[in-house]
Amino acid sequence: MADKAETGIAWGAARALEQGFESPGGTLAIGGKTASALAEAQGTPLFVYSGNLIKARMAALKRLMPEDLHIHYAVKANPFPPLLELMAELADGLDLASGGELALAETLSKNPGHLSLTGPGKGSTEILAGIAAGLLFNAESETELARIEEHARTMGVRARAALRINPDFDLRAGGMRMGGGASFFGMDAEAAPGVMQRWTKKYPHLDFQGFHIFAGSQNLDAGALSDMHAATFDLAARLAARAPAPVRYLNIGGGYGIPYFEKEQKLDIESVASSLSRAMEVRADNLSGARIAIELGRYLVGEAGVYLVRVLDRKVSHGKTFLITGGGMHQHLAATGNLGQVVRRNFPVAVANKMDAPAEETVTVTGRLCTPLDVLARDVQLPWAGLGDLIAVFQSGAYAKSASPSGFLSHAEAGEILA
Ligand SMILES: *Cc1c(COP(=O)(O)O)cnc(C)c1O
Repeated sequence: MADKAETGIAWGAARALEQGFESPGGTLAIGGKTASALAEAQGTPLFVYSGNLIKARMAALKRLMPEDLHIHYAVKANPFPPLLELMAELADGLDLASGGELALAETLSKNPGHLSLTGPGKGSTEILAGIAAGLLFNAESETELARIEEHARTMGVRARAALRINPDFDLRAGGMRMGGGASFFGMDAEAAPGVMQRWTKKYPHLDFQGFHIFAGSQNLDAGALSDMHAATFDLAARLAARAPAPVRYLNIGGGYGIPYFEKEQKLDIESVASSLSRAMEVRADNLSGARIAIELGRYLVGEAGVYLVRVLDRKVSHGKTFLITGGGMHQHLAATGNLGQVVRRNFPVAVANKMDAPAEETVTVTGRLCTPLDVLARDVQLPWAGLGDLIAVFQSGAYAKSASPSGFLSHAEAGEILA
């Protein structure tokens, strides 16, 4: 609302401009090309990722964060190969969640030592490929550790492994909780000392590296993230006291969020960075030799992506105006609120060629699937739009295309481009 009062333009457009998107002459432009030109050349629906915004985000983060912090990219946020290539350049490491991601990343990363594989239920093929690639395994259970040991022994090599810990605390205030209770991610903090005690004897082919502690996702509260960092270092120090070898690696997770909805405020990253610097400075002696890494997906690439869809129909039903577009939940499940949202709220949306215009009407923007769930923006205030106009859905750079049920209704896949 504040946006609208200040600028007179609809909030979705205002939010996008605030985040660094440009609109020369009132038309959204990415990488020097207008949305209309991109749509014309590539077809729609189209995901456009701004390389410049990603670079700027990473540069700002590197400037603020402690110098000895390693910033990793969580590939599952967006595995589009050209974007991944850029992230392999910019990030200090790539965190993988599957053998498929390993196949994508392996050819890109200059240093295979900077790859790590996390995720419950690793398959034998993934373990074999991971050992061959020389990556670091974040083991999710002792059973899994034993399987990695078995494969390394058979291959006659050593593998690097860390323990993924299900923390005994959780990330408070909003976001997605991933710790503090029963979980199928990682092993309970209480179980780790026993595993480490057995390490030397039972896992001679595994080099103990340290810990991976991931406590949550999509958090916008700097205070909660500071508390999480402090609790993470505290837990890691307690575990390090029982470790079979010096801790060389500590992955403190991430969880930094981006604002999706109108009332959400962006994360105070300066405050997060200064509290993290402090936590790193005062960390226990038994963590002093550890490479500290955060793994971020959404925060690095989420704001850089736009989903462009064309209006195919405009209709009024019982007094309500609908814009029917060529996109939908099969391409952008998250924007329709069906990827774990409890209360459906709108992502920032705008009419791409009317970025500077005030809102003129209340409309509902839909996709074209045969389900009432296929709503991209409900009762949103936009400048007038009709057939052929382009609607831009912002905050679409992470967990968008690759996290959507693309097989549903067998429409063609959305295009993607790094601009
Ligand atoms: C998904 C995931 C991430 C990335 O989370 P974001 O919210 O995108 O930053 C990091 N670590 C692990 C273990 C994950 O599963």
